[in-house]
Amino acid sequence: MEVLVFIGLAVALVLGLIGFFGRCRACGSWAHAFYPGHAADIPHGKASIVCKHCGDRQHKGEVSADGPVAWMSGGSGQFHEDGSYTGDSGTFADGGGGGGGE
Ligand SMILES: [Zn+2]
Repeated sequence: MEVLVFIGLAVALVLGLIGFFGRCRACGSWAHAFYPGHAADIPHGKASIVCKHCGDRQHKGEVSADGPVAWMSGGSGQFHEDGSYTGDSGTFADGGGGGGGE
């Protein structure tokens, strides 16, 4: 079943590339590429991707006063009053939506 081996290698390669390019620049955590946190600084209109490992923030988008965010990468999402987040993560891998606020 060489096809399955090929598919497996292709998937591993893609995940490797996502992890490599999406890793945290501060601590190098590859998990950051797959499970990014989100933070909004609404008074300043800044939306950030937060490393859950070391807490490093990177300004990655613009957030409006009532919560909608437009990520620089083209994705979009919504911050809620309680600080949670839903929507496209704006990174290579959308962690299934949600996942913010913790
Ligand atoms: Zn980090």
